[in-house]
Amino acid sequence: MNQIILAKYGEIALKGLNKHTFEDMLVKNVRRRIKKYGKFEFSRAQSTLYITPLDEGCDMDSVMDALSRIFGIANICLAKGFDKDWGTIVTKGIDYVAEALENAITFKVEAKRADKKYPMKSPEMCRELGGKILERFPNLQVDVKNPEITVTVEIREKMAFVHAVKIEGAGGMPVGSSGKAMLLLSGGIDSPVAGYMMAKRGVQISAIHFESPPYTSDRARLKVEKLAAIMSRYCGQINFFCVPFTEIQEQIKNNCSEEYFTIIMRRLMMEVAQRICEANEIQSLITGESIGQVASQTMHAMVCTDAVCKMPVFRPVIGMDKKEIIDISRKIETFETSIEPYEDCCTVFTPKHPKTKPVLSNVEAEQNAFDFEPLIQKAVIDTTVYSIDSK
Ligand code: ATP
Ligand code: MG
Repeated sequence: MNQIILAKYGEIALKGLNKHTFEDMLVKNVRRRIKKYGKFEFSRAQSTLYITPLDEGCDMDSVMDALSRIFGIANICLAKGFDKDWGTIVTKGIDYVAEALENAITFKVEAKRADKKYPMKSPEMCRELGGKILERFPNLQVDVKNPEITVTVEIREKMAFVHAVKIEGAGGMPVGSSGKAMLLLSGGIDSPVAGYMMAKRGVQISAIHFESPPYTSDRARLKVEKLAAIMSRYCGQINFFCVPFTEIQEQIKNNCSEEYFTIIMRRLMMEVAQRICEANEIQSLITGESIGQVASQTMHAMVCTDAVCKMPVFRPVIGMDKKEIIDISRKIETFETSIEPYEDCCTVFTPKHPKTKPVLSNVEAEQNAFDFEPLIQKAVIDTTVYSIDSK
C-alpha cells in the first residue's frame, strides 16, 4: 500500500550498550498492540522503528492511534512510498505533504540515502526539492535551524519515502522494561492516573480492586474494570485482581473505634495486596494518594499504612494538585468514567471524625483487638483474577 510508519524512539535512543534490550521490548509491545489491524514488517535504523503494512486492508488510522499510546515512542509519522524516479518523488511527494505546507510559514528539507548507489547526493536532493516547494508555495521561507515543518525524503532499497507530519508519541520507556507493580485501583480519578504515570516509566502494571458486596454493587466493579480497560490502551494488558473485602470491613466496624476505621482498612488492603504480589512476582505497590487531599492521606496516616508494607509503595501523584491530576485523567480519557457516581468500599463505613494524625502504636493496639489474619488469608484465596486488555 506504499505507506510506511516511522516511530522515533524516545529515551531509548539515549541508552548505551543495553539499548537493544529496550528496543526488543518496544518492538514486542508494538507487535502485540497492532496485530489486530493487519500484517506488518518491522525494521530498525537510527533510533527509528520502521513499520511496513503488508496488506491493503490495514486500518492505518487505528494503527497510528494505537502507536500514539505506546510508551517508548517520541513521535510517529506516516510516510508515503514512491517510485525512485526523482521527477515522481518531487511531484507526488510535494502533493503528499501539500496540506502541511499550506498552513506553515517555515520549512526545511532533509534527505536520507539508505541506497548509497542512488545517483543524487543528499545536499542536491534537499536543494532541488526545496526549490520546487518554494515554486509551489512562494510564501514559505526556508529555516534550517528551527523550521515549523521538516519535509523528509528517504531513498531506500526498493522505494523512496516522503513525509512531513509528526504526531506526538506517548514518550516514556517501553512497558515491561522497569519491573512490575500492583496498582491499588479504586473507581476514583487519582489511581488510574497513578498507574498511567508508572507505566509511562516502563513499569508493567497489574491492578487490585477491593469490593464489599452488597455494600458495593456489580456496577461499581464494572466501572473499575472499564477504567482498567481504558488504562490498558497505554499500559498494555493488565491482570485484574478483585478482592472480596466485606468480611474484613465488617470486622473492622465491629471491633475497632470508628476514628480508626479508614487507617486500619488501608493497612489491611496493603496486607492482602502484598501477599498477592508475592504470589505473582510483583515487586511493588502503587496508590493514587496525594498528600493532604483527604484525612487518610496525611503524612501521619501514610506512616501508619507503610508500617505494614514490606515492599516499596509508589505514589506518583503525591505532590500533585487535584487539578493537575484531573488534567492527566482527561488526557488519558479515564476522567469521564471516574466521575460516574458509584460507591467505593472506602466510603462504606466512613468515620465521621477520622484521625488525621494517627499514632502508630495506637493504630496497632486498635487493630490487635481482632485477629484479622484468617480473614486476610481467606480474602487472598477468594480473590478472582482476569486479564483486561484494550478493545
Ligand atoms: P482515587 O481517586 O484513586 O479513588 P481518592 O482520592 O478517592 O483516590 P482514597 O479513597 O483515600 O483516595 O484512596 C486512596 C488510594 O487507595 C486510591 O488512590 C487507591 O490507590 C486506593 N484505593 C482506595 N479504594 C480502593 C479500592 N476499593 N480498591 C483498591 N484500591 C483502593
Ligand atoms: Mg477514591
